[in-house]
Amino acid sequence: MTAVQRLAILGSTGSVGGSTLDVVARHPERFEVVGLTAYQRTDVLIDQCRRFKPRRVVLPDAARAATVRSALAGLGLRTEVHSGAQALCDLAAADDVDSVMAAIVGAAGLPPCMAAARAGKRLLLANKEALVVGGALFMRAVQDGGATLLPIDSEHSAIFQCLPEDSRSWGARIDRIVLTASGGPFRQREPDTLHGVTPEQAVAHPNWVMGRKISVDSATMMNKALEVIEARWLFNLTPDQIKVVIHPQSIIHSMVVCRDGSVLAQLGTPDMKVPIAYGLSFPERIESGAPRLDFLALQALSFEPPDPRRFPGLQLAWDALAAPAGTTAVLNAANEVAVAAFLDRRIGFMDIHRVNLRTLEALEPRLSSDHTLDDLIDLDQRSRAAAQRALTGLAA
Ligand code: NAD
Ligand code: MG
Repeated sequence: MTAVQRLAILGSTGSVGGSTLDVVARHPERFEVVGLTAYQRTDVLIDQCRRFKPRRVVLPDAARAATVRSALAGLGLRTEVHSGAQALCDLAAADDVDSVMAAIVGAAGLPPCMAAARAGKRLLLANKEALVVGGALFMRAVQDGGATLLPIDSEHSAIFQCLPEDSRSWGARIDRIVLTASGGPFRQREPDTLHGVTPEQAVAHPNWVMGRKISVDSATMMNKALEVIEARWLFNLTPDQIKVVIHPQSIIHSMVVCRDGSVLAQLGTPDMKVPIAYGLSFPERIESGAPRLDFLALQALSFEPPDPRRFPGLQLAWDALAAPAGTTAVLNAANEVAVAAFLDRRIGFMDIHRVNLRTLEALEPRLSSDHTLDDLIDLDQRSRAAAQRALTGLAA
């Protein structure tokens, strides 16, 4: 790929968005930042505009868009500022965009991801919730639109890097995949004491620096549950082909067990710039800026099974995949509501799992086999309402 790649970064003010700009800044001859989007952190967005001079930016909220518009005008920048959900989809599908980095957190990222997929973009997917909610519909949009879907989640990038490039031969070669998990900050904590942990303790991840929502998901291991569902769709595997093992050092990012028993693994320091650089440059490789792995400084690589008493939510991935279509979308919505309530100190840490369970019990997805994006958005909304009721029920 020699032409300049024109890039839109959805969620540029977040952790993955910022790391993407770090990699891009190392290669000004390869990438042009055409569009950026943010939700709340207007100051960060304005600073990014100063540095990368995108053609346009998008914010969901009109008032925040107005703030950014006047700040950019004051800086003499000609960046257009748009607002609203449709503007996000328009940017993801725009003719002057080659690649879309999907780094919004949560199901809010699904509509622009679908737009990028339908428009046949190179779609760099960090936003795992979009695939967990979108499932088969998302994968069909990728196929029908002729898009190239490149996983950015470190585990899925690892699997992708271990697989041959011809995806049609994957099924015949893979026995199973093993997703590694760090175990998060509570890997060794007594399960009986987990109800008392605070948001500050839950977001203090031992190995990775990430946004708040995914950090809480790592502490409950719901992040791994979402990743199991993500892997099912990305690599077209049956759920029982997907295994999870705790690997506290976060050096092996995941593994493929081949039909013949050979195991392929991808290793590196825990730094999102590596999978991001791979997605940006695939099938080539470029400097990522991540620190190199020093084998002689490694004490050991160890592995242990996840304890279901400590991480009861992990099993929900396989349960939801075995349940009627749409159940994974219900689980995702419940978890988003529950994590937000935990971060707001409205519920305890172990209540996240209770809300997820109660929401799954309360709601039947009732999706038809030819469901649409609107059906999924409707299901997401109904699931959030059911999760809110479950929250209220906990307090009662
Ligand atoms: P973050 O919270 O740091 O950033 C989220 C971004 O999304 C921000 O730019 C925010 O402005 C935007 N956003 C939030 N809500 C929005 C909404 N309703 N509408 C539009 N934009 C909205 O999150 P992050 O850690 O960068 O994670 C982003 C995604 O990448 C998540 O899906 C996460 O699971 C995935 N991911 C992150 C990491 C990591 O290391 N941070 C690793 C693997 C996967
Ligand atoms: Mg991951």
